[in-house]
Amino acid sequence: MGFLTGKRAIIAGIASNKSIAYGIAQAMHREGAELAFTYQNERLKGRVEKFANEFGSDIVLECDVGSDESIDACFAELGKKWDGLDILIHSIGFAPKEELEGSIVDNTTREGSKIAHDISAYSFLAMAKAARPLMKGRENPSMLTLSYLGAVSAIPNYNVMGMAKASLESAVRFMASDLGPEGIRVNCISAGPIRTLAAMGIKGFRKMLEQFSGAAPLRRNVTIEEVGNAAAFLSSDLASGITAEIMYVDGGYSTVGMTGINPPAE
Ligand code: NAD
Repeated sequence: MGFLTGKRAIIAGIASNKSIAYGIAQAMHREGAELAFTYQNERLKGRVEKFANEFGSDIVLECDVGSDESIDACFAELGKKWDGLDILIHSIGFAPKEELEGSIVDNTTREGSKIAHDISAYSFLAMAKAARPLMKGRENPSMLTLSYLGAVSAIPNYNVMGMAKASLESAVRFMASDLGPEGIRVNCISAGPIRTLAAMGIKGFRKMLEQFSGAAPLRRNVTIEEVGNAAAFLSSDLASGITAEIMYVDGGYSTVGMTGINPPAE
């Protein structure tokens, strides 16, 4: 029996088997959770259905987090299938590619900044609002999102996503404070860089991987399996005393000074 047996989790953010959300689904399935999945749009539907099948789930719902109607419809549909929800996983981020390179001052547009904050930060709150009624009366319900070191340090090219992640991490603290009296925990994993579809949109990402693995105490990059295991723990009763936490799963990189990060050479 796994440590998530009896738990029901909805996972948003699987786009491929390299996605961090895929690593989370793997770990949660292994630990006995019952899973539901969301997909962003029709283009990803078939792919997510295939992954859901792999994890023994037939609950696959459309949820474009840029639309309140889409979020509401998704959770209304989930409520017809499940009478309660224990775990919300928000593994979603987006900024227009042009914003993720060079000078933040010159390259960040008002529109790009709105999109990055809306999809990467506000959407966690919007999903939480829709998930909250389904979590009422459940034991140790949990909400979890994914951040990156760029929230607290100026990482070359991460630019407006760093601003959005700072907003997301702040939302985690406010949400934990708001939902704590209902017993709902809200946490975040700040993962080290991992080669995924979203990450490849950041200019110089390959160099970032090399620099992280060279300087991190563990001298390597982390995997989606390792982030998945930490996510499963934080979402479980084993972590019942933990909320408002930003947990680093990055081989220790965030603790090391003088890491020699410079703008990657072309
Ligand atoms: P990914 O490309 O596999 O996943 C990103 C997901 O966001 C996709 O499933 C995509 O469909 C979804 N998405 C984007 N816009 C959406 C919208 N409007 N509605 C619904 N879904 C939408 O990449 P990933 O690296 O697994 O990213 C997952 C999370 O992890 C993101 O928040 C990312 O910032 C964070 N993160 C990634 C890394 C890394 O290096 N890969 C490091 C730290 C944190």
